[in-house]
Formats: sequence, structure tokens, C-alpha cells
Amino acid sequence: MLLFIGLGRTGKGGTLHCAGCEQLVASAADICRIMGRPPRRTYTNPHGVLCPIVTLAAVIGLAGDDYSSTEHTWFAGYAWSPVACGRCGLFLGWRFEARTGQEPGSFFGLLEERLVSRPAASPA
Ligand SMILES: [Zn+2]
Repeated sequence: MLLFIGLGRTGKGGTLHCAGCEQLVASAADICRIMGRPPRRTYTNPHGVLCPIVTLAAVIGLAGDDYSSTEHTWFAGYAWSPVACGRCGLFLGWRFEARTGQEPGSFFGLLEERLVSRPAASPA
């Protein structure tokens, strides 16, 4: 089952787009630190694959599914769930949801290699 999540926010500053289809997926203003860690950081998955991600408080128009797991999570107490571009379906990263009441209640970790960043649009 596909769910549309994080619809809405844009904000000021640069934007992040899907590398597959250029769809807007996040505002750079929503890049945030989680657990005091730098927002851009490389994690390693259980297969030894390096995953450079950027953590975001909110995203725009991504498609998620209802599968989630706390197994091998990079953020203790958070379950992960895969998310993809809502337009082209490219896998973009994960949504993390708190399971033990911590703040924030949820956030996103998107793979940097699947994103294209753009500077803020200049005033017309
Ligand atoms: Zn896309």
C-alpha cells in the first residue's frame, strides 16, 4: 500500500529534487540534526554498503509504504520505513519513526546520491 507523506512545506532557501525525475522532494530549510549528529553523515548498512544520507524534518510528495522495522536501525528507538519519489518511484531513502516517545516523532534520511540540490530561486 502506498501512502503519500509529508505533503506541503516548501520554505525559503535551496531545494532538493529527485535525481531521477527532478521532482521537488524537500526544502533545504528542513535539513536538521538528529541526536546531535551532523545532518550529512555516512552510515553503513548490514551488507557493508556505505549510505551517505541527509536528515530532514519534512519532505514533499514522497511515497512510503506501511512496512517498518527497527532491525539494524541507525537511530536507536526509531523504526525505518522505505520511501520513494512520488512521481517516478525511485527509491530515495527512509522515514524514521519514534517507537519510544522520543523527539522528533519522525524524520527522514534521504540518500545524497539520489538527490539534486538547487539554490534558492532568485527574486523575479
Ligand atoms: Zn523522481
